[in-house]
Amino acid sequence: MKWQGRRGSRNIEDRRGRSGTARTVGGVGGIGLLLILGIGWLLGIDTSALVGPAGQGNPGTTGGYTGSAEEEAAAQFVSVVLADTEQVWSHIFETQVGTPYQPPVLVLFSGVTQSPCGNASGATGPFYCPVDQKAYLDTAFFAELRDRFGASGDFAAAYVVAHEIAHHVQNELGILSQANQIRAQVSQAESNAISVRIELQADCYSGVWARAAHEQLGTLERGDLQEALVAAREIGDDTLQREAGRVPRPHTFTHGTSEQRQRWFAIGVETGDLTACDTFGTDRL
Ligand SMILES: [Zn+2]
Repeated sequence: MKWQGRRGSRNIEDRRGRSGTARTVGGVGGIGLLLILGIGWLLGIDTSALVGPAGQGNPGTTGGYTGSAEEEAAAQFVSVVLADTEQVWSHIFETQVGTPYQPPVLVLFSGVTQSPCGNASGATGPFYCPVDQKAYLDTAFFAELRDRFGASGDFAAAYVVAHEIAHHVQNELGILSQANQIRAQVSQAESNAISVRIELQADCYSGVWARAAHEQLGTLERGDLQEALVAAREIGDDTLQREAGRVPRPHTFTHGTSEQRQRWFAIGVETGDLTACDTFGTDRL
């Protein structure tokens, strides 16, 4: 992906270098939350859909933090990808939705931070919190993606950012709140099944974004889509459970299999059409 020297987003809240307190927030704190965040860490991607409102997080301030060269490059990269999502989703909303796109804030943190959806620690993968409509990302996750999950390349990281922003798009479209309302009233297995539909739709939307970024900005390079597909494969529920030495148990899946995650991303890329991402209205996930 061509990103160096390009314009970044204004909607970055930089909390890096702030020592977040490990205070547990009300409601979903304690072991339950740790467990939830633990699952998120295993799955590699957000836990937002699992965690409800839980008190007020501290509003962040943009501090003059300067990290290592690698950290700064990662932060700059995220900022450029976020700007790309703003431009691209604004256009998609204009042409496919008919309402203006309201971009989210992306919180960069290192180690620990708080959100209305719960605390995030270094072990937490990126997540989107619908309560404050912010995406949370510790750029150390990119190294984990590369070293632990074997998904390297800048577009693997772009896919992770795009996936979280896709949850914001779902929130803007009213899909996330509807789905979470139903999830709160059904069994764990049924709730997990709805979560899979949410996540696969976010993967499909990420594909829609990637295609539009290619068409509108011309910033994709050869091999980029393959990098995203490798990342989607590596964070599939079945692959993660197998790599943890377990036999995959489909009723525990919350994000979908490797095959599903790759296929829905590809559907988004191939069609560029939000309506093709209707994971809630299909029998074949
Ligand atoms: Zn997700």
